Amino acid sequence: MELHSPLDKEFRLVETQKKALNKMGLVSVEDLLYHFPVKYGDTSKVSYIESLAQGDTVTIFGRVTGLKTSKAFVKKIPMSDGMLSDETGKIKMVWFNQPYIAKIIREGQLVRVEGKISERKGELYFSNPKIEAVGNLPIGVGESLFGKDGEEHTMHPTYPESRGITSNWFYHTIQKVFMSGILDKIEEPIPGDILKKYNLPGIKTALIWIHTPRNSDNSSSARKRFAFQEIFFIQLQKQKERLLWREQNAFKIDTKERDVNDFVKRFPFKPTESQLDAINKITIDFKRGYPMSRLLEGDVGSGKTAVAATTIYAVTNARPIGKDYGNLQTAYMAPTEILAKQHYENFITYFEHLPIKIGLITGSGCQIFPSKTNPSKPTSISRAQLLKWVANGEVPILIGTHSLIQKSVKFKHLAFVVIDEQHRFGALQRQKLTTKGLISPHLLSMTATPIPRTLALTIYGDLDLTLLDQMPTGRLPIITKIIEPTLRNETYKEIKKEMQNGRQLYVICPRINEPDPTKELAVLAKSVSLEAERLKKEVFPECSIAILHSKMTPAEKEKVMHKFSVGETNILVATSVVEVGVNVPNATMIIIEGAERFGLSQLHQLRGRVIRSNHQAYCYVFAESKGQKTKDRLKALMTAKNGFELSEFDLQQRGAGELYGRKQWGISDLAMEAIKNIKMVEASRTEATRLVEEDSDFKKYPLLRKYIETSGEKIHFE
Ligand code: ADP
Ligand code: MG
Repeated sequence: MELHSPLDKEFRLVETQKKALNKMGLVSVEDLLYHFPVKYGDTSKVSYIESLAQGDTVTIFGRVTGLKTSKAFVKKIPMSDGMLSDETGKIKMVWFNQPYIAKIIREGQLVRVEGKISERKGELYFSNPKIEAVGNLPIGVGESLFGKDGEEHTMHPTYPESRGITSNWFYHTIQKVFMSGILDKIEEPIPGDILKKYNLPGIKTALIWIHTPRNSDNSSSARKRFAFQEIFFIQLQKQKERLLWREQNAFKIDTKERDVNDFVKRFPFKPTESQLDAINKITIDFKRGYPMSRLLEGDVGSGKTAVAATTIYAVTNARPIGKDYGNLQTAYMAPTEILAKQHYENFITYFEHLPIKIGLITGSGCQIFPSKTNPSKPTSISRAQLLKWVANGEVPILIGTHSLIQKSVKFKHLAFVVIDEQHRFGALQRQKLTTKGLISPHLLSMTATPIPRTLALTIYGDLDLTLLDQMPTGRLPIITKIIEPTLRNETYKEIKKEMQNGRQLYVICPRINEPDPTKELAVLAKSVSLEAERLKKEVFPECSIAILHSKMTPAEKEKVMHKFSVGETNILVATSVVEVGVNVPNATMIIIEGAERFGLSQLHQLRGRVIRSNHQAYCYVFAESKGQKTKDRLKALMTAKNGFELSEFDLQQRGAGELYGRKQWGISDLAMEAIKNIKMVEASRTEATRLVEEDSDFKKYPLLRKYIETSGEKIHFE
């Protein structure tokens, strides 16, 4: 057996197991070793039937007999029941609404049953317990169950499972892998002095401890090690990138303070201290010989666009190297057409007093400002024409969507790249844009997704961070209300009053269309189309209502957004597509349906759509779930002072099982847990920075070099 041996070669697998492994991305023996348990049940806490009492929550291993499905007498709902027996006695098990139980467990099957003990007419029974077929009994239990006294207990690991493959399979297969002696072929990737300094177990010990811990100290130190490892590797890569980025030459842009002040004066508002501070930091970066790489993080509505516009002005004002005419160029990328268009329109008002061209490029067409025939207006032009002007340097500012990163888009003097809502783009897309010039441009990434500091330090370790932590003055804080279902009509009345004052309303629904009612598990979430119909018929017959969702074409969306922004439409029923930066100052109210389906950060972003003006803004939150977790989350939404606070809350509350981390940030659940721990994140960052500074090519650490080289791909420690 080798680390890279395919699992289906080493083990006899049935088709369902193959499928399940495939689905989980587990191909090689090494993948299996890195498939970690999500939790451990201590088998020393396994109970025996004779010792049970009402109200206990217990785990029991035993055999099943007499499983059958019937209809419950009173409520006519499907019900399954059966008997569980171990060496000490028998107990009944009952399940409501789970008729499939009898199908997945067979007569005489060895099972692990976990649940609460109830009592009825003096008889104890399990009601709705979790039941899992087990192939063998876990070590410890088996021995005592069959009369032998187990010498030591092993904690029973629970693995992320998939249909067709159980925790037990993982447990026993990994035992076989260990037995094959393969651990001796694994090399330690983390430098020994670091392991020692932070008291982390070596790789072999850690692998054994994470899969078969003898106690909870074993498992927690193993988990700590792998979390450290993951974050350390990310940091190494980020610090290396940072170093490489800084070794490049950049356009030196010398900005006069007076010029900046003149430009800023033209805004119809007074910039906040935060905004001025950010502008200042960026113009200082422009003067250095190496390219800037900065992340501007600020809540929705904190005014990031003005910071971008001012610094773009500074760049536009500078001449290409060795020339006394022409302008340096900026590419400004936004994630949606609506947003790109909105920036384009704003930029026209900010820059119309200057003799420069501004271009817009999106999937559905191109525009240029000013138009030849009407110098105060933009006009549509062909893509070819626009690209020609961009390539010969005649268009200093090009705003667009993903269309910007296409190969055919070439700049003459690209000096500055601004990426709005940067989390919506992949690293590769961002990279494509920053490698368009001969010289690396300065990079400004912007995001309104507030993330915890530890996470920012990890995933944005290569960037400098600036916060816009001040909202424009004069803004009334948004009023957020969690609405009880009984108060729905009351709420609509409140909203109507505001609408009579000319305000507009967003209604956010989790779905586009009504779920297929024939599908058994169809969710009850409100849909955009039905909700729009219902509102028109039952609640706001006098209003004009439009819908917006991701399945519409860009042109359709554009039209809907335009009508809404000029006030022709009163109510916009939408999916979370309006999440991103759309700016309609007169829309001061937002209803969020099915709020439990959105993350806290997302809810915060959605709510941010309505704090675009100095009118009082309202956010009405409806949730279908009554669970405590939902309640706590929504309460946090009401009380948190800003998005950063919310993100910390999300981080603390997020369970390892939620996979949120992996999906959104490319970090495993295990490392996501570690991100709660600022000390660990700082330690891994310190060590990575030190290592990269001392030995940037990792000459002393070939395994680490291999990782950096294959950056991001799976690493093989052979
Ligand atoms: P975001 O940070 O979410 O991108 P925007 O840049 O879209 O925010 O700004 C939101 C709104 O606030 C815009 O209408 C903008 O003109 C306005 N704005 C920006 N800065 C200020 C300020 N200092 N004072 C008042 N209004 C401002
Ligand atoms: Mg924005």
